[in-house]
Amino acid sequence: MKKINVTSPSMPPMEEYFEEVKSIWENRWLTNAGPKHQILQKNLEEYLGVEHVELFANGHLALEIALDALGLKGEVITTPFTFASTTQAIVRNGLKPVFCDVEPKYYTMDPAKIEPLINEKTCAILPVHVYGNVCDVDAIEKIARKYNLRVIYDAAHTFGVKVGGRGIGAYGDVSMFSFHATKVFNTVEGGGLTFADDELVAKCKAIRQFGQKDETDVPYVGTNAKMTEFHAAMGICNLRHVEDNIRKRRQAVERYRERLCGVGGIRICTDQEGVQGNYAYFPALFDEKVFGKSRDDVAELLAQNNIFARKYFYPLTNTFACLGEGYSALDTPVAADIALHVLTLPLYADLELCDVDRICDIILG
Ligand SMILES: *Cc1c(COP(=O)(O)O)cnc(C)c1O
Repeated sequence: MKKINVTSPSMPPMEEYFEEVKSIWENRWLTNAGPKHQILQKNLEEYLGVEHVELFANGHLALEIALDALGLKGEVITTPFTFASTTQAIVRNGLKPVFCDVEPKYYTMDPAKIEPLINEKTCAILPVHVYGNVCDVDAIEKIARKYNLRVIYDAAHTFGVKVGGRGIGAYGDVSMFSFHATKVFNTVEGGGLTFADDELVAKCKAIRQFGQKDETDVPYVGTNAKMTEFHAAMGICNLRHVEDNIRKRRQAVERYRERLCGVGGIRICTDQEGVQGNYAYFPALFDEKVFGKSRDDVAELLAQNNIFARKYFYPLTNTFACLGEGYSALDTPVAADIALHVLTLPLYADLELCDVDRICDIILG
């Protein structure tokens, strides 16, 4: 039986990549913002519809660096319904995560629940466009303005998403995109930051390279988070195919929706109004009382058929032992409920529609 994983990385034809990396043998420029890095940066600025993108070794370090460059101190309001990275980036910057619940339709931070969490220590809001679902960016901006807070978006899932024709990376002070192998667009490992204005760009670039502005001027405590030329070359190739891949993902999502929409006890996301989506993930919620099978039952049933869905995102990050005392999933009951019922079904560009049908047959059978 064919094995189907929750995702399968997009790769260009091998010859295309070989052709792209040939010039690296000629110029021997392997890393440190070389020609491939510069081309990818330009191409991404155009594709993402933003003025400025900076590239990093991965999305997580990009997020850590963004928080560092903002010089934040105190508490950051964030969501527990995310990948470990979001919460870890806050904690590794010496900041305290304060968890806000999510709303039940698209699982993004519930703006109505932000204000009660704000106090004199609050410095920023770090929401996540989870699964490619866009946060209520206008409501969040309004709150941030009112209390003079910074907004950093974890946009790891929203590569290429547009809201009202505007690139999602244009919202907030900074947005972080992940180019990890499993994401809609990949550079194998990689990440990017987009900025509302250029104020932070130089600082992020310096922190990316050991805190150095140049060889003699080292004003910051930095790290090494540079993207190599080979990773950038992979990005240049993959970007040529990303539109096509998103179109194929959309077809798979539409097939899932045809099969699963309206089934009692199964909840799935619909397109968001005014949003041009990227069909990054296909989460489905299973209510055992109505559907007859629990999330865990469905995961087990699929696994017996060599199909591996994932319990994204379970457990919530506010249950992580590394946070210490004072946190509980009970503080965010909507997120806790979703985490117990959600299963992210296989979705990638090359997933065949007959496989989507087979997955749905097994779930519904
Ligand atoms: C993938 C991911 C990250 C981290 O990105 P990497 O490029 O893997 O470091 C951060 N946040 C979310 C929500 C992610 O899914």
